[in-house]
Amino acid sequence: MTAPTNQRPARRQSIVWFIVFHVAVAAGILLFPFYRIGSAAVFSVIPSCILHDLFHVYCPFCGGTRALDELLHFHLLESLRYHPLAVVFAALLAVWYVFAWARLFRGKSPFIAISKPLSVALTVVVVAFWLLRNLLLIVFHIDPLGDLVGFWN
Ligand SMILES: [Zn+2]
Repeated sequence: MTAPTNQRPARRQSIVWFIVFHVAVAAGILLFPFYRIGSAAVFSVIPSCILHDLFHVYCPFCGGTRALDELLHFHLLESLRYHPLAVVFAALLAVWYVFAWARLFRGKSPFIAISKPLSVALTVVVVAFWLLRNLLLIVFHIDPLGDLVGFWN
């Protein structure tokens, strides 16, 4: 069965984006060792995070790079310690990736649209995590990242 003609350009465009996704992931994997080498020099010039450096609180993404770094080294517990949501989103990305290939082989676009309720739910989870992490830091001095507990003690 062939797709209607008006869906072919959209499918072709989504396949192009799927290829772009693979090129970006491959580039990220190839460049990651250079990031690890150069990050100290880069972050000595550029502030790594404005909320972290100026206000001594974590932004929703603080620890994400370290979590990804640990995850790429298969250190799951360390990755969870740095940023649990990064691990969850990496797992969701892996599941999406399997389904993307399945959808592609069935003649559909590899991408699925995220519904508005799901995007709202994801935003709520990220904001709740952000608030909880800073509440634990400021009120209870619990800091799994270990960067800011010295300031709040
Ligand atoms: Zn941050």
